[in-house]
Amino acid sequence: MNNFCEKTALACRALSDKGISFEKDAPLSMRTSFKIGGNADIAVFPETEAQLLAAVAALRGADVRFMLIGNGTNLLFSDKGYRGAVIITKKMRKISVDGNILSVLCGDSFTEAAVAAKDASLTGLEFAYGIPGSCGGAVCMNAGAYGGEVSGVLLDMRVLDTASGEVFTVSKADADFSYRHSVIRDFPNYAVISARFALRHGDKNEINAYMQDIMGRRRDKQPLEYPSAGSVFKRPAPDMYVGKMLEDLGLKGFTIGGAQVSQKHAGFIINVGGATASDVLALVDHIKKAVLAAYSVELECEICAVSEE
Ligand SMILES: Cc1cc2nc3c(=O)[nH]c(=O)nc-3n(C[C@H](O)[C@H](O)[C@H](O)COP(=O)(O)OP(=O)(O)OC[C@H]3O[C@@H](n4cnc5c(N)ncnc54)[C@H](O)[C@@H]3O)c2cc1C
Repeated sequence: MNNFCEKTALACRALSDKGISFEKDAPLSMRTSFKIGGNADIAVFPETEAQLLAAVAALRGADVRFMLIGNGTNLLFSDKGYRGAVIITKKMRKISVDGNILSVLCGDSFTEAAVAAKDASLTGLEFAYGIPGSCGGAVCMNAGAYGGEVSGVLLDMRVLDTASGEVFTVSKADADFSYRHSVIRDFPNYAVISARFALRHGDKNEINAYMQDIMGRRRDKQPLEYPSAGSVFKRPAPDMYVGKMLEDLGLKGFTIGGAQVSQKHAGFIINVGGATASDVLALVDHIKKAVLAAYSVELECEICAVSEE
């Protein structure tokens, strides 16, 4: 047994001892909305904050590399997978409402948080309806749509520094939010445990009508029938829409392997069947070169590509 396998085996024993569920050799294609990616050595499924802290301690104790993911809707894992452990937060769930404050755990669905806000007649989170990620992923990415953004409603978040084991609160003022960016992206060892959103009291019927309107617009404009990771690129400027730019360049339908620029919304790359991460990255490269040549604009990816090692 080599050193690498010994470390993985040690981590698995520690996770077992602590009663934390995990899976060995876990296919990441089944954990991501793109349906792409090789296997992770270990996928870990904490259900509570205590289990998350214990899982991190177990992996650090065994010197196994790890990362956190939520619903895998903004990720492109390598075809060779991930050497180490992927901590999947989806089982960490608890939404509660106190006055105008909505609290979530990192694994709660962002869409379900929007529904809970509506049920409590709270307005401000309608934009989250239909964003397919977890609340932890949404805070990390400062997810947004239709004029709303996490930065507009976050009160604060509890964060674990996975390097030191310290848990602390980060207020909105210290979250360093900008377009699809938060402080969490700058510190890969920071894990969002929970978050609180400050909302306003509103009319439940109006909130519901707005959410249904947003969902209708998503269904009309986005290729939801295909695996994807949403918009691939960030908008280069507030008034520049990548989908329109690619459409004008005639790139709709352009295909490499199983990866295709969506005919419905050119800002999306879809997996039309059997796409690999290499196909997607080659298509991304082709698009970037075409946009640079035509518009002198360097596109930046919104999706997070994760390498094997
Ligand atoms: C069809 C479709 C439509 C979409 N529409 C939108 C949209 O309208 N607006 C928008 O902003 N996005 C959109 N997205 C992208 C995506 O849903 C969001 O970025 C979402 O917030 C990602 O959440 P997630 O849980 O899936 O994160 P993941 O994809 O699992 O992870 C994304 C990043 O967050 C990190 N992360 C996840 N959880 C944590 C945590 N608890 N602590 C620290 N880091 C963490 C990961 O390490 C990774 O770097 C769309 C995607 C799809 C597939």
